[in-house]
Amino acid sequence: MTHKIAVLPGDGIGPEITEQAQRVLGALGMDLEMTVAPVGGAAYDLHGHPLPPETLSLAQGSDAVLFGAVGDWKYDSLERHLRPEQAILGLRRAMGLFANLRPAILYPQLANASTLKPEVVSGLDILIVRELTGDIYFGQPRGVRTVEEGNFAGERQGFDTMHYAESEVRRIAHVGFQAAQKRQKRLCSVDKSNVLETSQFWRDIMIDVAREYPEVELSHMYVDNAAMQLVRAPKEFDVIVTGNLFGDILSDEAAMLTGSIGMLPSASLNASQQGLYEPSHGSAPDIAGQDKANPLATILSAAMLLRYSLNAEDQAKRIEAAVASVLEQGLRTGDIYEDGCQLLSTSAMGDAVLKALR
Ligand code: NAD
Repeated sequence: MTHKIAVLPGDGIGPEITEQAQRVLGALGMDLEMTVAPVGGAAYDLHGHPLPPETLSLAQGSDAVLFGAVGDWKYDSLERHLRPEQAILGLRRAMGLFANLRPAILYPQLANASTLKPEVVSGLDILIVRELTGDIYFGQPRGVRTVEEGNFAGERQGFDTMHYAESEVRRIAHVGFQAAQKRQKRLCSVDKSNVLETSQFWRDIMIDVAREYPEVELSHMYVDNAAMQLVRAPKEFDVIVTGNLFGDILSDEAAMLTGSIGMLPSASLNASQQGLYEPSHGSAPDIAGQDKANPLATILSAAMLLRYSLNAEDQAKRIEAAVASVLEQGLRTGDIYEDGCQLLSTSAMGDAVLKALR
């Protein structure tokens, strides 16, 4: 069976890093049909829109999307709906990508890259599952109004609305439990149920869904405590599942535990396992076109693509083992370079991963 992959390189370092991930996917001996299309600023330059209809329908008709990065200062003066970043929002909306998976893995060889003590973070391997399409970010009503009565009567007031529907919580709960099943079978649901009604509801649903996954151990933690535990003892976590607002903050905090933005993959999934896979970093216009960027986050995103959209766990593990082997050999791009290691270009790092795969 042929698997269809839409490759959307985007802007800045996007084309350089997706090229290396494509080479790695192509070397696995699988039946993959990879089709490249423009997105972001590159698509605006060609077609006047960051997400042209042809690119969107290619993505929708594929099993998975491998995405590079979008954005460049030169598009900052465009109207908001034409900016490169709108392409990601458009893809999320059109494909119904409601679950964001961000692993924070710190390879022992890179333990010095973290600002935390190596013994606290070395070997860290956690996965944050963040709900992506609901919560206070999208809740209505929202806006600025004039307060009618009480202490602040007559003043202007900004307001937003936090809510989660039962089906929204259930589907992200299932993603969290199923991800935990593939790992150490421990799921920590993060909320603020001591203060927020929405969070108490979230917690009740998590407990209900847990009955379908008796082999997974469910725990609960308030978000303020989770923020502390992530820097105190991050290795205590396996999978964290949380809402859009808390997940936004905690996933960035977890990413920074590793200290190496060029190493972090991510996935956004919908209910039919279609997904968009991209590095957690941006388009790095400062080093674009110089063959300096670290392609490993994109190569590891390709591994996630195999795991979550193509159900090819063995091939995902092959790629991850090849990346670990390259690091073990002391091969580094500039962003993760340390004394005593060998400095490689983007393409040479791709070559090294291909060699390790074989
Ligand atoms: P950035 O992640 O692009 O870069 C931050 C710093 O990290 C830069 O110094 C960059 O050189 C470095 N860096 C990032 N990825 C690297 C890699 N793979 N290898 C080596 N070094 C790497 O963030 P930024 O500078 O804030 O944003 C640049 C552009 O990217 C902006 O236009 C922003 O809107 C866009 N952006 C896009 C995405 C996305 O496509 N999902 C995400 C974040 C930012």
